[in-house]
Amino acid sequence: MRKEADKLILDNIWKLFMFAKKESKKRPKLAKKYVMMVRKLAKRSNISLRKYRRKFCHKCNAYFVPGKNIKIRISKGKVSVKCLECGHYSRYVLKGGIK
Ligand SMILES: [Zn+2]
Repeated sequence: MRKEADKLILDNIWKLFMFAKKESKKRPKLAKKYVMMVRKLAKRSNISLRKYRRKFCHKCNAYFVPGKNIKIRISKGKVSVKCLECGHYSRYVLKGGIK
């Protein structure tokens, strides 16, 4: 029973992210709202957004569009992503490092 409900919610999350992606170019404010809805939905239903967590800003909920509202730098095997809307940095380690 639980699995069925999870599947539905995951489907909704995916759909909302598709909407956010579509709106991110023309109406970033609406995209932000979609991301906010997804985060709320995931929190309420205890679902991890692991797959999508690098697609939006964790501070201002902006949907990331490479080359438009984010700046990506790679140094010493670490990736740092800067949100150009609020200035929030998120950093993570590259798997396997740079060769
Ligand atoms: Zn931000």
